[in-house]
Amino acid sequence: MIRKMVKTGSITALALSLLLVPSFSDSVKADDNRTNVNQHPELLRIESLTNYDEMSRFLENVDRKSEYVNVEVIGESVKGRKLHLVKIGDNLDDPNKPTILFLTQQHGNEPLVTESAIRVIRQLSTDSKKVRGLIDKVNILIVPRLNLDGAEGDVDWDSSHLYRGGLQTRNNANGINLNRTHNSLSQPETKALHENVLQQYDVDYAIDFHHQIANRATDDGELVSGAMLYPTNDGVKDEVLESSKKLGAVVYKAIEPKKYSNLARYHSDSTSTSIARNNFAAHYDIPTLLFENRGLSDSPNRSAILEQKDREYLIKQGEVAMLAAIEAVANRSIETADTSIWDSLPEQHTVETELQESK
Ligand SMILES: [Zn+2]
Repeated sequence: MIRKMVKTGSITALALSLLLVPSFSDSVKADDNRTNVNQHPELLRIESLTNYDEMSRFLENVDRKSEYVNVEVIGESVKGRKLHLVKIGDNLDDPNKPTILFLTQQHGNEPLVTESAIRVIRQLSTDSKKVRGLIDKVNILIVPRLNLDGAEGDVDWDSSHLYRGGLQTRNNANGINLNRTHNSLSQPETKALHENVLQQYDVDYAIDFHHQIANRATDDGELVSGAMLYPTNDGVKDEVLESSKKLGAVVYKAIEPKKYSNLARYHSDSTSTSIARNNFAAHYDIPTLLFENRGLSDSPNRSAILEQKDREYLIKQGEVAMLAAIEAVANRSIETADTSIWDSLPEQHTVETELQESK
């Protein structure tokens, strides 16, 4: 709805400017953006995703209906959208109960992991024996979609270089990559996350969910369904690093048997604490896993973008990762998880596809 209004508004403004100052190149550019959307019905359909209004309504609803799910507004995006923290548990102050945190969509063009989170929240808001069994043993915190404005394509910078004209953008409304602001907290989104979540709760494990470009493959040529990594910076305690690797082992063990699975090691030796996985581990002693789902919703490169047919199995993959991590923390099996998977996890590399054109 919001996106439609923005588009309509800009087209009206453009038509008006054409009347006043004829500018043919501008009108061609705007047309290109709109045509690009329609020309590619096979690409991930943004309208099939949960938009901001729908997600807000869903969260208000579970907050009202479920005894153990509480939703708190922790701040606002640059454009004034409300950032939510979903708290699942019967006593979040119980020091004997471990707490796991999931963060999704720091990058607005990485949407399916938020869909996974919504499904997990929905499941945990039902009153079943299984859910009560989990809530008895673990607290769950979820910050779904940190980059709300980017996810709506509602930004104050020119995104027309993107293949789909900026339907969803990596950076926030100010054009800033939120996952480079975990030290500076220069953006309202990361400031809210640190001040109202990380500094308020005793988090024992965290997973930072992203998407990487769609065209990464292992040596056998098979496309990678997901890639993982632990903190790679100095100043992380040995036990924090070890627990991060255990978290990865738990996720690997749950996903690996699935038909769609082809997991790889995410390639990064970044030691920067401005990124979440390194920052959480070094500053808060939180064992943290980076999980990169396959493919983006928009990018300068066509080959980086997901197809609609990829939607379902990738949402499922994120959901399996989240539920496995919750369960392993609840029953404490995570403490004995076998970290040798990290020695055999294959490397990935970027492959050329026939869709290598870029805009
Ligand atoms: Zn990302």
